[in-house]
Amino acid sequence: RVRTRIAPSPTGFLHLGTARTALFSWAFARHHGGDFILRIEDTDVARSTQEAVDQIIAAMNWLRLDYDEGPFYQMQRLDRYRAVIDQMLAAGTAYQCYCTPEELDAMREAQRARGEKPRYDGRWRPEPGKSLPLVPAGMKPVVRFRNPIDGDVTWNDMVKGPITISNRELDDLIISRPDGTPTYNFCVVVDDWDMQISHVIRGDDHVNNTPRQINILRALGAELPEYGHVPMILGPDGDKLSKRHGAVSVMQYEEAGYLPDAMVNYLARLGWSHGDDELFDRRQLVSWFDGSHLARSPAQWDAAKLNWVNAHVIKQTPDAELAARVAMLLASRGAPVAADERLSRMCALFKDRCATVVELADWLGMYYFDVSPRDEDVAQHVTDAVRPALQALRDRLAAIDWDKGTIAFAMKEILGAHGLKMPQLAPALRVLVCGRVQTPSIDAVLELFQRELVLRRLQGV
Ligand code: GLU
Repeated sequence: RVRTRIAPSPTGFLHLGTARTALFSWAFARHHGGDFILRIEDTDVARSTQEAVDQIIAAMNWLRLDYDEGPFYQMQRLDRYRAVIDQMLAAGTAYQCYCTPEELDAMREAQRARGEKPRYDGRWRPEPGKSLPLVPAGMKPVVRFRNPIDGDVTWNDMVKGPITISNRELDDLIISRPDGTPTYNFCVVVDDWDMQISHVIRGDDHVNNTPRQINILRALGAELPEYGHVPMILGPDGDKLSKRHGAVSVMQYEEAGYLPDAMVNYLARLGWSHGDDELFDRRQLVSWFDGSHLARSPAQWDAAKLNWVNAHVIKQTPDAELAARVAMLLASRGAPVAADERLSRMCALFKDRCATVVELADWLGMYYFDVSPRDEDVAQHVTDAVRPALQALRDRLAAIDWDKGTIAFAMKEILGAHGLKMPQLAPALRVLVCGRVQTPSIDAVLELFQRELVLRRLQGV
């Protein structure tokens, strides 16, 4: 059975890179009808916070990456880790080491002086016929994993292909600290084992951990998962994507008016492809995401492309759903607006020109907040030549039925009576009523206004 997991450390918000590995793991599990598991790696007690856990879960919910099990917390599994460490000590696959930090420093110093790569020299590693140093009084040991000395570790990475690391490169990893707390690599191993993870998809910053984890899993007699290490996301300048390049927290994108389906679509294409398909929905992603076509080379963040995808998703989104999102934004700006039929129609009218929901709310602000046309626009478009027509139109608008057809008819009549053309009247109306020179069709825009507001904005022309 396919079982994948995402294992974020709750030391901050959900980073785009983690969201992308979560998405890959989720899509892969869903594709195979398997399980997706959320595990919180909170053993870095000093840096882990409940707030970060909440933010991670909020971001997963927002992206609709639903998990079947979890969240599991490593800090709630300490007894289990200790039990496995005791089991390994008993089996001889791990041993206690009483080296002091000073001793380790001296060891490395001497190795460097000999031109060797610093590594633990195995002085506490039991071997047949070898006598170990005397246990120093009052000192608490670390526990080290007894890594094989000979041979290689090989796995066929889902992304990178076959990888082989010589065991000579790996020294005896500390799996438990003097205070008894287990170390990072060890917890991951026990968790992946206990949670029966079949496929570990993670960033390639973990690729060096994998041979160590495989060795420990083997020592435990565990079945090995498949591993896939996806390359980092790069910023536009080619460096690893970071705060320096702009927002890297998933929820900052929600605030900036991106839709979760657009984020999912865009993130999926960062390091994965399906032919030439750029725009797809979740259902398609799940049906296509079989673990192939994961890119070996790093993907680059492209804000313009994200905007393009988001604009597309906005167009596809039902107007009522956009209205609900826009209503919240307008409320936060001081206009408590109902997400009703009228707001839906406004969204329908303007959504084609918006890359984000925030932009949509900016547009619809003209219906709720004062507009401030630029002086140069007023000077250019509200000329003495159109003023009489504007006055006549204002008087007509005060009396007619308030719908698009009747408004358009009134405008046509007034144009005829004043010998003007639409390109003279419409910009003037737009500037005064909407505060902008360009809008969708002006009769459609006007219809959605409260009549009184239009009349007020045309007062004194
Ligand atoms: N906690 C690790 C991280 O935040 C994940 C490790 C893993 O996926 O094995 O990068």
